[in-house]
Amino acid sequence: MIKITDKKDMFRRTTSETQHEAKCENLKVSLRDLDSKASTANKALANCMLCPRCCGVNRLKGQLGHCGSDARLRVARAALHHWEEPPISGWRGSGTIFFVGCPLHCVYCQNIQISASDFGSQKSTAVVSETNLHMVAHCDDLDSQVALTACGSPSSKATTATSSSPNLQGTMLTHESHDAHVISEQQLANIFLNLEKQGAHNINLVTPTHYLYSIIAAIKLARLEGFNLPIVYNTSGYERPESIALLTNFVDVFLTDFKYASAALAKRYSCASDYPEVAFAALQAMYAQTGACTFNSDGIMTKGIIVRHLMLPGQLQDSKAVIKKVFQEFDNNVCLSLMNQYTPMPQFLQKNRFPELCRTVSEYEYDELIEYALDLGVSNSFMQEEGTVDASFVPAFDGTGVY
Ligand code: SF4
Repeated sequence: MIKITDKKDMFRRTTSETQHEAKCENLKVSLRDLDSKASTANKALANCMLCPRCCGVNRLKGQLGHCGSDARLRVARAALHHWEEPPISGWRGSGTIFFVGCPLHCVYCQNIQISASDFGSQKSTAVVSETNLHMVAHCDDLDSQVALTACGSPSSKATTATSSSPNLQGTMLTHESHDAHVISEQQLANIFLNLEKQGAHNINLVTPTHYLYSIIAAIKLARLEGFNLPIVYNTSGYERPESIALLTNFVDVFLTDFKYASAALAKRYSCASDYPEVAFAALQAMYAQTGACTFNSDGIMTKGIIVRHLMLPGQLQDSKAVIKKVFQEFDNNVCLSLMNQYTPMPQFLQKNRFPELCRTVSEYEYDELIEYALDLGVSNSFMQEEGTVDASFVPAFDGTGVY
């Protein structure tokens, strides 16, 4: 294995890189297509079913879904970022935009400051993370709501949620603590253009799912002004295939997690027992859109999928199952990024909840996983070396670049 000496250099390929000349065909968007897709946004947000949570809330009226977001676009940071996989970060950096809120809410979330709906308030990280812990503690309640309301059905989970519901759906915003970093679609388009001027290799949209329509509108506006970078959709993988389909001709690269193969684990840590099947279906939809990975002459990915798997302590078998599932379906046509950077969150230590998550992934566990992947035939992949467990990889969510 190759040792990393520079922390910026977080990822190493497990095999030599294959570079392909490729044009970014998705840049040739049809403006008519753009218009028709963006125009459906308002209707959809009035009964939001954008992600597999299928809340059915009216975000236009200020109702919060499970993602903690109403209809307003909130961004915590927009800057060049050097800590993604090499074909994404390149040498000049990826123009990375961190959106506020998240539909998934994993208990171990490393970006808890912005994934929680309280971003912009003065609450500490430990307090904010209670949202995730509380939600998982009442996961059976949420699962029964999900079972009650299938996505696409006219009934709304906003009406089935009770006042003791563990999630946020059906509640109203208190505006004084939630106005931070609200921007318009035109401002988001300007951010794309600014990052392009700064030399970004691409635009990297982190946790974009719940803002899909605003993002599409912003891409349209930016393209009209000559914006010419690939779009990277950086997601938890908990996506509806129908929503992924809306991104056709807008997104070039999917940088997507595949977190769990086990429904029980997905329920325990993310309150989403359907994650394995949902994420797999989403991955198939992504692949139908991008096909195999292609790169430009500089080794920057212009099309394709990187599947990230963050190994969790004590979950070697589940990690192996994830790799097997992805590889059996996509072979080496998608790139696997196997990550060992899991960092225990302080709340686990304080509250003695999830004691198994109170340590980092051992070198033995990670080495076993890498060996398993190589034995399986995985060759299009990245691995990390020791020293990548470091909170300093979380950037400052201070509104940098958001104006
Ligand atoms: S995007 Fe938000 S409001 Fe819409 S279904 Fe998902 S969690 Fe619910």
